[in-house]
Amino acid sequence: MSIPKIKYPFLNLKTINEKTLQAAEEAACRVIRSGWYIGGEENEAFETDLAAFTGTRYAVGTSNGLDALRLIFKAYLYLGILNPDDEVIVPSNTYIASVLAVTDAGLKPVFVEPEEETFNLDSGKIENALTQKTKAILTVHLYGRPCFDQEMKDCAKKHNLLIIEDNAQAIGAVSKTPSDSGSFVTGSLGDAAAFSFYPTKNLGAMGDAGAVTTDDADLAKAIRALANYGTDRRYHNIYQGYNCRLDPIQAAILRAKLPFLADENNHRRALAEIYDTHVDNPFVKRPLRDIPDGSIWHQYVLRTDYREELRQYLTDKQVGTDVLYPTPPHMQPCYSCFKDLDLPIAKKLAQSVVSIPISSCTTEHDARQIARIINDFRP
Ligand SMILES: *Cc1c(COP(=O)(O)O)cnc(C)c1O
Repeated sequence: MSIPKIKYPFLNLKTINEKTLQAAEEAACRVIRSGWYIGGEENEAFETDLAAFTGTRYAVGTSNGLDALRLIFKAYLYLGILNPDDEVIVPSNTYIASVLAVTDAGLKPVFVEPEEETFNLDSGKIENALTQKTKAILTVHLYGRPCFDQEMKDCAKKHNLLIIEDNAQAIGAVSKTPSDSGSFVTGSLGDAAAFSFYPTKNLGAMGDAGAVTTDDADLAKAIRALANYGTDRRYHNIYQGYNCRLDPIQAAILRAKLPFLADENNHRRALAEIYDTHVDNPFVKRPLRDIPDGSIWHQYVLRTDYREELRQYLTDKQVGTDVLYPTPPHMQPCYSCFKDLDLPIAKKLAQSVVSIPISSCTTEHDARQIARIINDFRP
C-alpha cells in the first residue's frame, strides 16, 4: 500500500515516525526477544514515565483511549462514587468516543455547547445544565487546547462534581488555571484523565494504546483490576471486568517516543504562530491562539462558510485537509435518542471547521506557503 504523494500532506505517519524509528525499533525488538508479551516491566516503565511527565501519582496503561475513558466511568461505578443513570456534562462538539464512554457505563450525557472561538466547553453554561443527578464533568481538551478554568473548578466544587479529562488530543498541554494541587499540565487537572496514543495523536503508538492518569490510589487500583478481567490477585476476580490492557510492544515504543514529544509539540506551536500571523483571508477565521501558548495544536482548525470550496481549492493546490468532525455525536444514527436536542453551535462548527497541516511532516517554510495559498482563496 502506498500513499499518493502530495506537496503538503495533511499527515504522513511514515515521515512523522522517521525521527524516532531507531528508538522504536529497538524498543519493539527488546519486547519480541524478551519472551514476555503481556504486562510486565515495559508497561511499568512507561507508566512510571507517563505519571512523571503528567505530574500524577499513578498512570495505568490501557488498550486505547476509549477504553481508558470507559474504565474510568466503570471504576467510579464499582467504587460507588457514581451510580447508574447519573448525569455527566459533556461538550456537544467532541469526538464521539467521549460520549460512547458515558453511555457505555449506563450514565447519561448532558451536552453543553462550546465557545465558538475556542471550540471548548463553555464553563459559563455548565451551571444551567445541572440537575440533582449531575455527578461529573467530562472536559475534553479538544484539538490540543486545555479546557479548564476557574469557573469550571468553582462549579465542580460547589456542586460536588468529579472532573474527568478526555486528554486524548492534548498530552503535554498547559492550562492557564492550575488545579487545586497546583498543577497545570493536562492529565493532572481533574480527578482522572484518559489518554489516547492512536497513531495520529501527538504521541502516537504503532497500533492502539491508551492510559489513565490519576492521584487517586483506589481508582488506579480499580482500573488496573477492571482492565485485567477484574482480577485483584491471580485467579481472584472482584469485578466483572474486561481485557483492556496496554500491549507491552506499544508501551516500549511509547516510552521510547515520549522524550521526543516536547519537540513535536513545540514544532506545532511554531507552525500555529506562523499560521496565526500569515493567514489573512476575509472568508476564513483563524482559531484563537493564546500567548503564552498552552495548546499542543493537535489540530489547527479554521472556520469558513465555504468549506467545500476551500477544501477543493486546497486539494487542487496540493494542500491536504481534514474535517474533525463533520457530524456532532447527538446527530449520529447511533444516538437517535438525542436527535431532537437543539445544539446550534455544535451543528454550526461541524459544518464550518476544516483542519490544515500541522505536524512534524510540515516545515515552517511549508506553513508560510500554505498560508499564502489560503490567502489567495476566493469562493
Ligand atoms: C482519539 C480520541 C479518543 C479515542 O481514543 P482511541 O485511542 O482512538 O480509542 C477519545 N476522545 C478524543 C477526544 C479523541 O480524539
